[in-house]
Amino acid sequence: CGIVGYVGARPALSIVLDGLRRLEYRGYDSAGVAVVGDGELLTEKRAGKLANLEKALAERGIADPEGTGPVLGIGDGTTGIGHTRWATHGGPTDRNAHPHVARDGRVAVIHNGIIENFAKLRDELESDGVEFTSDTDTECAAHLLAGALAELRAGGAPDGPQLLAAAMRQVCVRLEGAFTLLAADAAIPGAVVGARRNSPLVVGRGTGENFLASDVSAFIEHTREAVELGQDQVVLITADSIEITDFDGRPAAGKDFHIDWDA
Ligand code: GLU
Repeated sequence: CGIVGYVGARPALSIVLDGLRRLEYRGYDSAGVAVVGDGELLTEKRAGKLANLEKALAERGIADPEGTGPVLGIGDGTTGIGHTRWATHGGPTDRNAHPHVARDGRVAVIHNGIIENFAKLRDELESDGVEFTSDTDTECAAHLLAGALAELRAGGAPDGPQLLAAAMRQVCVRLEGAFTLLAADAAIPGAVVGARRNSPLVVGRGTGENFLASDVSAFIEHTREAVELGQDQVVLITADSIEITDFDGRPAAGKDFHIDWDA
């Protein structure tokens, strides 16, 4: 029900957790985060309140349980995504919470909405030998994205943020329904890709950092310059760039606006 993404120079984990806290009013039954740092992917996810997620992170020595202290270890990674879930497919359990990670252990995906054709996609992936670890409609997007990345790499495409966006576009054209998707790849630090169809996604334009969220309240304390994504668009953010295309890869524009109300 809530989505946050960050790329910049500051530890992503505390910014993402803080953004999720600001989206709590939307309601949720589970929460999770993924952080990329040093070519590694850290994920944690828990059913229940954000406090459960923070406790699980603290038990791994990753963050202060109050959410106010220093972020430690891989939690220093400056690329991150976070999710609050309102379960539609699969009960509100730890394993069904997002992010969903592909079997390569590097690609993490979060999703708000419903992927209507997930059963067909899941059958297809399972007959290719993919093992699912959740009951969600979302997980198929993680496996499809990892597959698209692997194929593009095998075809000689250079690694980097553009690869992540290209792979996301390939996934989006296969999905039916409503989705806001965010994804990160541990092999592509410093980039988060987002996509939307029939579900909201807003970009926050910072200085040396950029944000993605389901609504501006998640990043309003960091920037008041925002871009609302149009229907069927993909956005790639790095610390100093925001690139929007349609699902076919043609350059596209969102709607720029300034947030002038108080948070
Ligand atoms: N359909 C997805 C799920 O059940 C996402 C739900 C949401 O929007 O939070 O996991």
